[in-house]
Amino acid sequence: MAKPDEKSFPLQFKDTHVPDFHEVKKVLLDGLKKNFMVASVDVITCPDLTQSPWDLASPGICGSPRIVDIGGVPYLMPVPNKSKLYNLAEVARLVDLPGAFIIGPGAGSSRVVGKNCEMIVNAKLAGDGGGSDNIKSWIAKLPDDNDRTKYVVESYQSLEGGPLMNLFASEGKQGMVLEVKVKSRTGPENFITCMRKQLASHYGDKPVAMGGVFLIAKGKANLHIMPDFSDKPLNTAEEINKWLTFHDMSAPLVCLCEFVSHDPDLDLRIEHTHCFSNHGDGGHYHYDTTPEEVEYHAILVLAEKIYRVDRPQETHQLGRD
Ligand SMILES: [Zn+2]
Repeated sequence: MAKPDEKSFPLQFKDTHVPDFHEVKKVLLDGLKKNFMVASVDVITCPDLTQSPWDLASPGICGSPRIVDIGGVPYLMPVPNKSKLYNLAEVARLVDLPGAFIIGPGAGSSRVVGKNCEMIVNAKLAGDGGGSDNIKSWIAKLPDDNDRTKYVVESYQSLEGGPLMNLFASEGKQGMVLEVKVKSRTGPENFITCMRKQLASHYGDKPVAMGGVFLIAKGKANLHIMPDFSDKPLNTAEEINKWLTFHDMSAPLVCLCEFVSHDPDLDLRIEHTHCFSNHGDGGHYHYDTTPEEVEYHAILVLAEKIYRVDRPQETHQLGRD
């Protein structure tokens, strides 16, 4: 429940289809083998994700796992709605997990940062039990919009983001997880799209949702960073791609992701990943650019629920890849 002084947002939620881990393991492996030379999927006990190379704010991604899809691209374009800002502590209470460990992609708060930017959420909230929040989030932004080749990725200690966030929340505990390792991409799909499409082809209209973290351990990847809000309305995919800035970034990249095999009529963004690093790279993941060399290592779980917060009334499909 929201506290009396907090904003409240329209909220919908749906249960997902949660297949047995060992079944999902087989399904994912079949798909990954079509897209990568080497692939393995195992059910393991979650490693301590606060340690290198993961550097997350909580040791695990287990306990009440849920997708939290907030706002949306329709609040960013054709013209931005700058009033759409969300505080993660409020969101956590809204989805009945006040002490949540929240990870994943979003837009940073233009109010806090001073301009539009990418946000990489990595925060364990104190919740109602006292103590303090452990915030290890990042933002990626252009220091100067006149030079579209330069970007900075920096620590971000605020819990505010918006106008869109596609998050994965859990109690942040260690438990059983799926470990996915692949090497050398031979197919056309990026790592996440490959798994999402495979789940969709096996489970049809039953929504299977996953979230977690993956490491791009070797190679390079194409990432975008949003510049400041566009002066002109962005009405087409071409206009959006001209506005975005794209960069070739280097491993190791820690990537926080969520994906859903089938949208159960919640107007979801069905796949979204943002990455950070300790060497100044980070942003929105599109695909690796070094297919032969690339290596991915993922720790994932199945989400049990999807929460839809402040769903736009007027929607469109632009800018969702
Ligand atoms: Zn993004």
